[in-house]
Amino acid sequence: MRAMVLERPRTPLVMRERSAPEPASGEILIEVAACGVCRTDLHVVDGELPNPKLPIVPGHEIVGRVAAMGAGVAGLAIGERVGVPWLGSTCGLCPYCRSGRENLCDRPLFTGYTRDGGYATRALADARYCFPLPERRDDAEVAPFLCAGLIGWRSYRMAGAGEGTGAEGTGPQALGLYGFGAAAHILAQIAAWQGRRVYAFTRSGDDAAQAFAKSLGAVWAGGSDEMPPEPLDAAIIFAPVGALLPMALKAVKKGGRVVCGGIHMSDIPSFPYRLIWEERQVVSVANLTRADAREFLTLAPQAGVKSEVTRYPLEAANEALADLREGRLQGAAVLIP
Ligand SMILES: [Zn+2]
Ligand SMILES: [Zn+2]
Repeated sequence: MRAMVLERPRTPLVMRERSAPEPASGEILIEVAACGVCRTDLHVVDGELPNPKLPIVPGHEIVGRVAAMGAGVAGLAIGERVGVPWLGSTCGLCPYCRSGRENLCDRPLFTGYTRDGGYATRALADARYCFPLPERRDDAEVAPFLCAGLIGWRSYRMAGAGEGTGAEGTGPQALGLYGFGAAAHILAQIAAWQGRRVYAFTRSGDDAAQAFAKSLGAVWAGGSDEMPPEPLDAAIIFAPVGALLPMALKAVKKGGRVVCGGIHMSDIPSFPYRLIWEERQVVSVANLTRADAREFLTLAPQAGVKSEVTRYPLEAANEALADLREGRLQGAAVLIP
């Protein structure tokens, strides 16, 4: 098998030939068909997340087909299409796992960070954390669902949205999305489908991203330094920029909530207490649970969510990461081995 490997943080990935691993008990070997490129991969490559496994194969939005199964794997078949997300495994024993919060597990493994991921022709995964993906849509187009979709969905739930529709009065009617990348482009469609008013905030002057947001159902799009035309009920920050937090707090109304949806963010500047006064809230979202994944993967087809992807060959992983870093992408980057 071939894999793009990070040997040391802050160095380019290098292509390596490896012998294909055998799945251990409970694992499956996957023939990778597509792997999304997530901003978290940049944080891993840049050494911004502590204690990665090194060398590491990044990539946690894997779509592929089961090539081999270890002992004891149930509910999957050879050749079946599956998705592998960021949550690679959990301990099942800690207080978080036992209270429905496996996203906060004390001893987790994360795909493409603490266990090898999908920037490769083949990947191993713990079968219990993989999801069957019906062959309804293209491999590359479904890949961004595995993180941008799932963690976006958890962020959306934390913002008070979820099932039902905004028109029925459940959850935020006016929802701000800061950073219009892979996650926001998926969520905007769900929120619009549910009747919410989506306000998209991009880098100031990024006309292409603002037009893209409007094409996906946003009622307004502007620079993140602008105030929206109405106060927001809630906002989600996907861009890894701490300075956005006080701006989002300014834009939400009394009792509003600002959700930080990323795994890493630059430092948050100090801000006056009045920005959080009147029961405004700030929360972060960590990882995902398998329940989040099941909900999102059921809902996305109902909402008719489409993903906009740019395909790169596996060996162009460094170019894909550079394009993501520089904001040259619309939607999501996906590697095709
Ligand atoms: Zn645990
Ligand atoms: Zn991700």
